[in-house]
Amino acid sequence: MKDTQIAKLIKAEKERQKKVINLIASENIVSKDVLEALGSELTNKYAEGYPGKRYYGGNEVVDKIEILAQERALKLFELSNNKWAVNVQPLSGSPANLAVYTALVPKEGKIMGMSLSHGGHLTHGHKVSATGKFWEQIPYGVDEKTEVINYDELKKLAKKEKPNIIVCGFTAYPRVVDFKKFRDIADSCGAILMCDMSHFAGLVAGKQYPSPFEYTDVVTTTVHKTLRGPRSALIFSRRDKIVKDKKGKEQTFGDLIDKAVFPGLQGGPHMNQVAAVAVALKEAGTPEFKKYAIQVKKNAKALADELMRLGWHVVSHGTESHLVLVDVWMGGKGISGTEASDRLEKAGIIVNKNTIPGETRSAFDPSGIRLGSAAETTRGKKEKDFIGIARKIDKILKTK
Ligand SMILES: *Cc1c(COP(=O)(O)O)cnc(C)c1O
Repeated sequence: MKDTQIAKLIKAEKERQKKVINLIASENIVSKDVLEALGSELTNKYAEGYPGKRYYGGNEVVDKIEILAQERALKLFELSNNKWAVNVQPLSGSPANLAVYTALVPKEGKIMGMSLSHGGHLTHGHKVSATGKFWEQIPYGVDEKTEVINYDELKKLAKKEKPNIIVCGFTAYPRVVDFKKFRDIADSCGAILMCDMSHFAGLVAGKQYPSPFEYTDVVTTTVHKTLRGPRSALIFSRRDKIVKDKKGKEQTFGDLIDKAVFPGLQGGPHMNQVAAVAVALKEAGTPEFKKYAIQVKKNAKALADELMRLGWHVVSHGTESHLVLVDVWMGGKGISGTEASDRLEKAGIIVNKNTIPGETRSAFDPSGIRLGSAAETTRGKKEKDFIGIARKIDKILKTK
């Protein structure tokens, strides 16, 4: 690279990544092939529109790439093209969610989503996000005692509030989600059911987490978390879901979502990114990836079990995914999430501070830290390594 300043910084970041233990639950380490696709000449191409329906010339190659990405997305999650549509153009998870609401939720309609402090994402209707400015959030949370979702309470709330859409799938919820119960709740109030599987999509692909597709109308996901692809997102929607517009014209959810992505919210898709998505989706369908997903879960469990054994409060008393949420404040007996994350960073362990259910501190200085096993499992770490990491964390956090 001729630009020595940037070249130096890229090298420094590469070295930083190699040096640390990365426990950020939303990060991973992509393959060389994914990097190659991202760094390819595809970045030069404008391709506004969809395959066969572009607004620019010269799209014969990128059309093939986008179609391949769509086919691989459906194949990975065992979906038939007759039943499900997929949009591979969203630039990332947040714009993907915004596109779904733009397509399917009327102005000032209601989004029922988990509140931020209980593990929901900003784009599930939180008021600092556009999704909470254009629509009203009906927040729900976990049960204070069990720290897992109480589906009966949820159903009562849904029947009372009658949201337009219910969002399940979270950003800091270590347990599996009961999609069948969510379907029942959505049906009880006539809501659309959307799953945002951003965090656990890789585990669904590796068959280590229940698949949301049987029960939901729309599924969104980022590609860069457990799915181990480039920063990007996908939107799946059921083809048999039809909406009539003001003129009485029938459109599927997929038609409306495609229009919301482009021209509604975005311009030209990032075709280098779409190609990298296709590469990652192929990788995620291999037997090696399934082994990886199995190990991700085993490692998270080893980490959670050891931290609990050492006396830490792990939210919901364990994990059924790649994610472990630890209450390090423990009602004042411990340290704050910020201090924990700072201390760990000094020791080369990268985590993020996180609110915990029933948070008594603030979002900027919360009570917890969130840990994930996805990145270090890519590096080949096993249960014994994660037990070692738990002990290291314990020592660092307990030092006076
Ligand atoms: C990460 C995440 C997103 C947002 O993804 P970005 O790519 O950061 O915009 C949305 N929803 C959930 C549940 C997430 O975990």
